[in-house]
Amino acid sequence: MTQTIVIAATPTPNGDLHVGHMAGPYLAGDVYARYLRADDRPVTYATCTDDSQSYMISTARKNGTTPGELCRESTARIQRSVEAMGLSLAPLPPVDDVYRRTVLDFVTALHREGRFETRTVRMPYAEKAGTYLFDGLVKGECPACLTESCGGSCEGCGHPNHFDDLAAPRSVLDPGDPVTSREVTVLVLPMENYRQELTAYYAARERGWRRHSAQLIREILARPLPEIPITVPSPGWGIDAPFAETPGQILYPWIEAMPASIYSTWKAAGEPAGPVDGLWRAGSGNHLVYFHGFDNVYFWGMVDLVMLLAHGGRYITPDANICNEFYELENEKFSTSRGHLIRGADLVAEVPRDLVRFYLALTCPEDQRANFTREGLAKVVDQRLRVPWNALATRIDELVTDPGEELKVTDDGRRRAAVVVERFRLCYDLPSFSLTRAADGIITQLGRLLETEHAEPGDLLLEVRTLLACAAPILIDVAAEAGERGVELTLETGAETITAFHLPRLPGSAR
Ligand SMILES: [Zn+2]
Repeated sequence: MTQTIVIAATPTPNGDLHVGHMAGPYLAGDVYARYLRADDRPVTYATCTDDSQSYMISTARKNGTTPGELCRESTARIQRSVEAMGLSLAPLPPVDDVYRRTVLDFVTALHREGRFETRTVRMPYAEKAGTYLFDGLVKGECPACLTESCGGSCEGCGHPNHFDDLAAPRSVLDPGDPVTSREVTVLVLPMENYRQELTAYYAARERGWRRHSAQLIREILARPLPEIPITVPSPGWGIDAPFAETPGQILYPWIEAMPASIYSTWKAAGEPAGPVDGLWRAGSGNHLVYFHGFDNVYFWGMVDLVMLLAHGGRYITPDANICNEFYELENEKFSTSRGHLIRGADLVAEVPRDLVRFYLALTCPEDQRANFTREGLAKVVDQRLRVPWNALATRIDELVTDPGEELKVTDDGRRRAAVVVERFRLCYDLPSFSLTRAADGIITQLGRLLETEHAEPGDLLLEVRTLLACAAPILIDVAAEAGERGVELTLETGAETITAFHLPRLPGSAR
């Protein structure tokens, strides 16, 4: 049976996931995966820690630890946060020998096919440390927007920079270390070789991209396309490149994302027999959907796509990349280094999880920057969700004296329930997936149900049950409680009768 593989951006294990990450790809991927399951469409929701990133080196240095130790601690924290938020994400798989073999098989196949080319390039070089600098090891002026940027891609404008593209580079590990530029021979994958395929790919999926991300792709396509580094000089961390042309180099960390996702899909699916990449093969008929931030559009939307295309039709490619913008905390950027953050696990320890998930869904930054505030959370979830929801529960309590009794449903009740499902499907299905509109739909329908006079109690109950089923991907705990009470959470609305039930209440925000 075919399935949808939902992949959330691979988190770098150099810290925990905070609320900004949750309101970005992770909750959205969870809601999408839960909706597909509720609709009887098989799904695997997976990710994998991005252990080889150079950011591991810089954060470990700052924290006075080793990249390996940082990796172990952060992976455990990330796993706890995922569970605390109730994300239906498969457990983070170990980055082990099977992982490394999957990565090496993926790149050596391309090497064998002659997809890579050697290039002698200039790279920033830290003279005292005696190391070449890239990605998280270097900062400088972004060639596309002139703001300060790390290597790889610019967090602000999203444009790539590789090798010596950053102006005035300096070492992140030691800003006092003089940085010069030295020649080095690396392997690259010229993205320009895939221009035609890329253009056709984006044209076919134009409606699936949010506006800002689509614009960035157009901007990058309007220029000569970058040469993707396949190897870089080793900073002492990462997977050793197995190629004779580049001794002492590692695989460029970003190119691990696709084999990492292939590996985590295989782990999440219970390690099915056959090749590890079987679920990603073109003949599988499976669908692929990514969730990631705007700052990953270049890597996840272009580099990783080219890595798949370079295999010449062997792999499926994503139906959609659902990209989020930045989320702020009390009108300031989330910052791990300044401690300006709220961890998901800490928040759900204070505020019931359904209320947190609802607020993040309602306010997440889909098309533009959005803001999390404590005051907003308290006010919005109380006034717009908890109070009307519990008023509806009270109304049903008064109406239903005998839970378990079969009540008649009229054509009108079925019609209205079907309209509700249709509205929510527009929020949950591609290409119009929108967590904020789904959360808004819950508010709208609650308000309507409180005001509508129903000819038959059965009609109200069918509509409430339908709303509960539509809200279930977001409000996971109240939905589970209803399920335990025997309420059948179905998106089917054709019932002739309905079994009466009491609606579980939402808890208050102070525990
Ligand atoms: Zn920039």
